[in-house]
Amino acid sequence: MKQQDKVKDPVCGMWVAKHDHEVSYQQMPFAFCSDQCRTRFLAYPHLYIGYPGAAAPKQEGKVVFKRRRLHLQQALSVEGEVIIDRMLRDLMGVTSVTVAGDSIEITYDLLQVSLEELEVALAETGAHLGGGWAERLRRALINTSEETEIEASEVTSPHHYRP
Ligand SMILES: [Zn+2]
Repeated sequence: MKQQDKVKDPVCGMWVAKHDHEVSYQQMPFAFCSDQCRTRFLAYPHLYIGYPGAAAPKQEGKVVFKRRRLHLQQALSVEGEVIIDRMLRDLMGVTSVTVAGDSIEITYDLLQVSLEELEVALAETGAHLGGGWAERLRRALINTSEETEIEASEVTSPHHYRP
């Protein structure tokens, strides 16, 4: 493949063929190495490409921390707390975890781990715990979690620019 046919995946930085997993965003074409990178881009495009005149956190090499607090319908056993705590800490991009009874708090770098990846990891661990935990954890993440942005936040649109 000729070099000029390659473009940079804005999410992971890989060089990819111009039409791979292509998507058009604000009349501009973007290509990705995978559906996963494309999905992440479409969820938070300005984390990766910024706005005219304002670089995105990814372009500046920053991390974007999010904190999610999950409310469970029933309290975890002590063993369950330990298993979930360990699993979450092992995920790439997760920086802190607090598991206590019916609440789980996760702080993670949005540029490294997505909500979908957290969902899959929680569902797998829940399946391992049994007793309906796969569904309970998944529901807690999707339906009842609160999200807070901390420190470096998503680029805010400059006043002169309306997407
Ligand atoms: Zn990629």
